[in-house]
Amino acid sequence: MQLSIPKDYSLEETGITQSLLKKWKTCRRAFLFSINRMHPTCIYEKWAYHNMMHAALEFLYKGNKMFDVFLTNYKLSVPKDEIQKTKSIAQAMLSRYLEFYGKDFTEKRFTAVEKEFAVRFGNYLLRGKCDGKFKDKKGRFYHIEHKNYSQINVEVLAKILKFDLQNNFYALADSIEGKRDIHGVLYNVLRVPQSRKEISPRDLLVELSEKIRKDPKHYFFRFEIMFHPSDLKDFEGTLRHQLSELYACLHTGVHCFYQNENACQLRGTCEYLDICSSGSFVGYEKIDTFFPELEE
Ligand code: SF4
Repeated sequence: MQLSIPKDYSLEETGITQSLLKKWKTCRRAFLFSINRMHPTCIYEKWAYHNMMHAALEFLYKGNKMFDVFLTNYKLSVPKDEIQKTKSIAQAMLSRYLEFYGKDFTEKRFTAVEKEFAVRFGNYLLRGKCDGKFKDKKGRFYHIEHKNYSQINVEVLAKILKFDLQNNFYALADSIEGKRDIHGVLYNVLRVPQSRKEISPRDLLVELSEKIRKDPKHYFFRFEIMFHPSDLKDFEGTLRHQLSELYACLHTGVHCFYQNENACQLRGTCEYLDICSSGSFVGYEKIDTFFPELEE
């Protein structure tokens, strides 16, 4: 298995997203696979529900209301016999979400939804796509990030979010681009409901809608993370240091891209495990983009 640094990748011109930086920090071999644009073909099915919910929330926060029509037309990458049940789960979640967070759509003034950015940070280019940006009643700037989680430890997450890479990365990029302070992030979690195998899509919709109505806080919860200007200053210094290390590695050769066998099973299984375990690229394809998350 021979991979090298592709000639068309650079930190200066191609840039880096928070998820690519996370790979670099977690496992340098995963970073190397990623900049070679290796992508597991099975990943579309694995993330199908999450991608659909993300797209549906984008649809709603852009001011549309007919999410049931949106779901009906949405092309879902799951086996045929799972399509209707997966859409029933989404429908139950979204209709209750609109009831539970109705004020999002009347009181918050959204200035951007799913807007891509590419911001110069010294020699480097920071890239990404923020789920939403809004102003509160006092005119302060906030971001919102939507997450669909199956398993979650709320207490641990609440602590980790105080120094979360994605939140800091997006806030820093926005403060550079918009020359303004970002007051905070609303980290918006939707718990992925479980469903029984033998239930029909229609019964599932009724049963789940009732469950969520009885206990909406189990399915929907948020963390509000405030930024202090000194937090972002600290993050800026750390980011500069991390990117200069990566830059040096990219310009000195492939030996920096060692495996981190402790990272193969962190939050889920690493998407490159089949390559690392077999030395073969069977089951992977080379995609056109360095940043598939910006295409979604
Ligand atoms: S499977 Fe493990 S060693 Fe291989 S890229 Fe992923 S985290 Fe790194």
